[in-house]
Formats: sequence, C-alpha cells, structure tokens
Amino acid sequence: MSDWKTIIGLEVHAELLTESKMFSACPVVDSVEAGPNTAVDALSLGLPGTLPVVNAQAIDYGMMVGLALNCEIPPYNQFSRKSYFYPDLPKGYQISQYDRPLAVDGYMDIELSDGTSKRIRVRRAHLEEDTGKLTHMGDGSSLVDYNRAGVPLLEIVTEPDIFSSEEAEVYARKLRALLQYLGVNHGDMSKGVLRFEANVSVMHKDDTEYRMRREIKNLNSIRSMVRAIDAEVAWQIKQYESGGTVKPATLGWDEAKNQIVVQRYKERADEYRYFPEPDLPIVEVSREWVARIRESLPELPDAKQARYAADYGISAYEARRLTEDRAISDYFEAVISAGAPAKQAANWMLGALFRQMNEAGVGYDQIGVMTITPLTLAGLIDLIQKGTVNNNTANTVLAQMWETGKDAPTLVKELGLEQVSDEGAIRDVVRGVLDKAAPMVAEYLSGKEKLFQALFGQCMKAMQGKGNPQAIQNVLKEELEARRG
Ligand code: ADP
Ligand code: MG
Repeated sequence: MSDWKTIIGLEVHAELLTESKMFSACPVVDSVEAGPNTAVDALSLGLPGTLPVVNAQAIDYGMMVGLALNCEIPPYNQFSRKSYFYPDLPKGYQISQYDRPLAVDGYMDIELSDGTSKRIRVRRAHLEEDTGKLTHMGDGSSLVDYNRAGVPLLEIVTEPDIFSSEEAEVYARKLRALLQYLGVNHGDMSKGVLRFEANVSVMHKDDTEYRMRREIKNLNSIRSMVRAIDAEVAWQIKQYESGGTVKPATLGWDEAKNQIVVQRYKERADEYRYFPEPDLPIVEVSREWVARIRESLPELPDAKQARYAADYGISAYEARRLTEDRAISDYFEAVISAGAPAKQAANWMLGALFRQMNEAGVGYDQIGVMTITPLTLAGLIDLIQKGTVNNNTANTVLAQMWETGKDAPTLVKELGLEQVSDEGAIRDVVRGVLDKAAPMVAEYLSGKEKLFQALFGQCMKAMQGKGNPQAIQNVLKEELEARRG
C-alpha cells in the first residue's frame, strides 16, 4: 500500500446549446464549422454603450443541470464582473456568477469498476459567458475569433471528493452523458464545448490537512485527463519523497509528449476584483419556475438504468451500459419498439453490434446513423427467434448487414444461410459423419462421453454451420445410441 492518497476536485465548463448568446441576441454557431468572426455583435466585442440582457433559456438549461445534479436552486442568483485583461476578452472583464450562483450543494453518485458506488459532492454550478478563441500562429502572432465570446457557459465545480483518476473518469463520463441526456450540450470535447480542469493534490497517510494543489487545464479528452492526473500524482509524490515541495501552479497537458507543462506559478491568489454587475438585475427564481423545470426533466440515466434492470430481466451492469449514452438507450428502445424481445436486443447490442462498432471505430454517439438500424437489427433477431438462422450464422449476417446496409432476410436468402432444421437432412449428414469417424464412435460408446462435443462439432462443420444446433444434438444422440451393442 502506498502512503499517499490522491485528492482531486474537478471544474467543468459546459457551453449551453442556446440559440443566442448569454447576454445578447447574437446567434451561437459551431466553433469549428463557422468562419471566424461571423457570429459577432457589439456585445460580443464589448463595445462601449452596449447593455447585456440575461438569456432566460440559459437559466432554464443551467437549472436543469443543477436539478439533475441534486442541487438546491437558491431564490436569487446574481452576476458579477470578474476583471482581467486578455485579448480574447475585449471588455476587460467577464460576466460570471460569484457569491450567488445558480445552483449549490448537489451530488452525483458514480459506480466504480469494483462494484462499489461513491458520492461526489457538487459544490456549485454557475453561469458565465465564454471568451473568444485565440489561435497562436507560431511566428509570434496570434489570431482571435470572437464567435465564442459571450456563449453561455455553465461551470460545475465538485468538492475535492475524487480520490483517483478512475473516479475522475467515471464522474466525467457520467456528467457528459447527463448533459447529453438533458440536451444542453453535445459533449464534444475536441470542439471545446465541454472542458474539464483537474485540481490535483496528494495527502500522506499521516496528514490531517490538504496539501497544495496544482490545476491542470487544456484537457481535450477524458483519456488525456486520466493520463494527466496520473502523471501529476506521480510527480507530486516523487517531489515530496525526495524532500521537495509543491508550489501552486496552473498546468497544461502536452498530448503529443504525454507530459505536464507548467503554464504559470501562482505567487498569490488571483485578484479579479469581483463586484456585482451593475447593468444586470438580480435574477429572482420563483419556486414555480423551479417546479416547471423539474417537471420538464427527461428520465435521467440512473432512473432509466433501474427501470431497464427491473423490467427487462437484464443485469444492472448491462442496464448501465445501455443507459450510459442517450443515443444508445434511444436505439435500444427503438429495437424493442420494432418488436424484438428486450433481452435479445440487449444481448445483440452489447455483444456483436458494439464489437462491430469498436472495430470500425464508430463512436456510440454515431449509433443513430449507422447502416444497421433498430428496425433491421430487430429483423435479424426475429430470424433467430423463428429458427431461420442460428446464433453463429446471425453473427455472419450482422457483419454483412454492417457492410452492405441490406436487411437480414434479404442477406439470408442471397447467401443461402437458412438454418437447416429438417430432421431427414440432418440425419443423412450425421450418419455420414459417424461412418467416417468409426474409431471415435467406438471410443465414445466404450465410455469416453467427452467425445460427444467433438462429434457434434464435426456435424456442425459438415452442415457448414447452417444446421439447427439443437436438432443436430438430438439426432446425434439417437444415432449414437442406435450404434450401441
Ligand atoms: P478557489 O476558490 O481558489 O477557486 P476552491 O477551494 O474553490 O478554490 O476549489 C476549486 C477546486 O479545487 C474545487 O473543485 C475543489 O474541489 C478543488 N480543490 C480544493 N482543494 C483541493 C485540494 N487540496 N486538492 C485537490 N483539489 C482541491
Ligand atoms: Mg471559473
């Protein structure tokens, strides 16, 4: 056992999928597809004389997330000015919530790989505006795109309750899925619409207080977050064990070099001179408003998972995998609506279909736009149920469906894959196999019953995998008995 324990608090920035920006009617556009500075107005540029107006949709969305994270929604929230200078922030201050956030004191329960579950407390979730985006050209110059400036941003902050990179990963995945379920964020970290920052420290087993933490920014995937945390924890422990210290710092992660880079050391606390935003009123959140938003929440992953496990006779683990991603649970429910028994739908999705997707590098969010649709998967399951194909053949058919986009009945016909259940046909093949395998049959009959499987395998092979396995077993037993004595 190591003498050291990892302590992590996560700060998550999620852009909200509103039509317009946080404080003006300027449209929100996709930061990768839209040309630079094509969605910019006087507010986004912070021109003098402009006045902000709060986007009610952003408050609704923020509240949805807060409620889904079991937060309290205080009766008032308020925006403040956070002053600092940077080229991506033309006003010289960011409008953000400070001492009166939208949501406070929530939690999320996560399930770990050892089967235990754990509660991560959520300290607060507050609204702010995003900044513009700088592109450093590498020749000393930088370009700035203000499309992102003023886009509504929800910052979700945990308590330092996360004790390993695995816990951080599970929390991050579950939070991302939750945002997608709620329809408030697409979860695409590569586009920067969802950004994680990890505050990391370590504690010695004899410590009674937290030690200095360092904050890792610029993490553009959950995988790099895990790697960065592991590297940082190892570095801090090594530092202390060799008699060194850890100074507060802001870090970045160099994905290519797989290493932490120090961006700046924090000599003293940042001084942003927060004060209440004089151009915006305090937002009063009536209890009716909160109730209306609570009403509007869709079924959330935890509830859905419990329902699947209870209604569909699948394990808690299977139910979790089917609910982790909204696109997957939508697909699963569509397969059932198309007539497949839920248990079969779960088995084929979690088995063959996911394997196919992984091999092809197709992400779970793409499941809705694949060649195999819920309808055609249900069609394949129907053929299995009816005994037209056995499980083995069904796997072949599924691979062909993936390749060609054709449906299962068409492929089975084209490839001549119908399962043979006809007893006469099976008996002919079985007799042929037993005649050729006379020595093995003799051994079997003299008591080596294990050989049944080998003989069965030979029969399956002789029927090119198309024989109904149950029927072959029955006939094989009969034919072997007939050769006794
Ligand atoms: P600040 O007020 O400077 O922003 P906070 O105390 O609010 O700092 O914490 C910011 C984030 O850092 C939170 O997610 C919190 O959980 C986390 N954090 C605080 N202390 C530690 C620590 N010792 N180790 C790791 N994370 C920490
Ligand atoms: Mg912040």
